[in-house]
Amino acid sequence: MIQALRGTKDILPEEVGYWQLIEATARNILTRALYQEIRVPIFEQTELFERGIGEATDIVGKEMYTFPTKGGGKSITLRPEGTAGVVRSYIQNKLFSLGSVQRLWYTGAMFRYERPQAGRQRQFHQIGLELIGTGAPRADVEAIAIATDILQALGLKNLTLDINSVGRGEDRQNYREALIEYLEPYQDELDKDSQDRLTRNPLRILDSKDAKTQAIAQNAPKIIDHLSDSSKKHFDTVLQLLTDLSIPYNINHCLVRGLDYYTHTAFEIKSDDLGSQATVCGGGRYDGLIGELGGPDTQAIGWAMGMERLVLLLQQLQKAPVTSPDFYLVSRGTKAEAQGLVLAQKLRSTGLVVELDLSGSAFGKQFKRADRSGAVACIVLGDAEAENGTVNLKWLASGEQEAISQSALLADIEALRSKIAQIRN
Ligand code: ATP
Ligand code: MG
Repeated sequence: MIQALRGTKDILPEEVGYWQLIEATARNILTRALYQEIRVPIFEQTELFERGIGEATDIVGKEMYTFPTKGGGKSITLRPEGTAGVVRSYIQNKLFSLGSVQRLWYTGAMFRYERPQAGRQRQFHQIGLELIGTGAPRADVEAIAIATDILQALGLKNLTLDINSVGRGEDRQNYREALIEYLEPYQDELDKDSQDRLTRNPLRILDSKDAKTQAIAQNAPKIIDHLSDSSKKHFDTVLQLLTDLSIPYNINHCLVRGLDYYTHTAFEIKSDDLGSQATVCGGGRYDGLIGELGGPDTQAIGWAMGMERLVLLLQQLQKAPVTSPDFYLVSRGTKAEAQGLVLAQKLRSTGLVVELDLSGSAFGKQFKRADRSGAVACIVLGDAEAENGTVNLKWLASGEQEAISQSALLADIEALRSKIAQIRN
């Protein structure tokens, strides 16, 4: 038997209600703030990610699905994240000519070669936001506020927002030296990856997952003590605006991004209910990226949420949302079955939710399924009803029944709809 690949997962109908809930909630909140969806390809030239994410990152260093094109010559990569493709599209399609500020969002599958575990897959899904064309601290806070709105609207609790500033390139240059000076005496105690990073990319050591390295990093000099006045002002403004919006935060001095095109705000939203894969949303400002990828110098901020992790949290909170029918349509006999299909389609076209029993089995069995379906009412069509052009309408909660002509049923849909709404409430 052919099995799904390790690190990939089928999202079965019993689970898909959570996904649809997340998508609808996010789309709704994003649309209210006039963010527009953008859909970009799932694979791109490898170089885009090498330059857009950075050669020194885990993603580019060891997690990308990369292969040559059939004709040879080009190397392509399945997207490991969304920002690089969106920025490529922004530049290629000159979206900046449509207005100085672009508010964009995306959702879709991402691919990373990682060790699969709960909340960590090789094919996983993100929803992401990119707010391009402004360096205002208000933009950072708008982006963060929208992320927290989505998580709150989903009913998620026990979340913390960790935030830090990585300043600008010059700020980091100062900080780098101070950090290397602090870390050098501990060189032998650092984990292997961190030892390699000590001179190449020491900031990344701060977010090492190794416990001993973390303990050393706790007492390291802080990047916010090395920010220029204007960078410090940006950060202070962001924090003040978060306070104005009553969004609690925790300054995490170890939250960093090592690459030059990341600037100012970096943040993560974590959950206490997820075990070790705790981060549900990560983001930050990337004022240097668009220029780095050949576009005009453009300030921007973005974030991405891991949908699998949101689903894990929702599963702890509530049953999967399911759609139950307004009507369950039971029919038996050639003529009745044919009329039943037509009636089901007519009712569906009015917006009612109708499940048509296709089994042709005995009425008793069909009635049992009607009960299990959670339908509000059952429409019954047998030989006699088919002959007369009627149905038997049975309200399942009360057991109340009436014989009614099919045309009368269809003539007063509004009455049906309000009765159904009343029963559902
Ligand atoms: P982590 O430290 O968990 O590997 P990351 O820093 O690599 O996360 P980002 O690149 O910032 O993650 O991606 C944003 C979000 O996407 C993460 O916070 C997480 O919720 C989700 N995510 C990242 N990688 C995976 C994965 N392999 N499987 C499922 N979700 C993921
Ligand atoms: Mg990762």
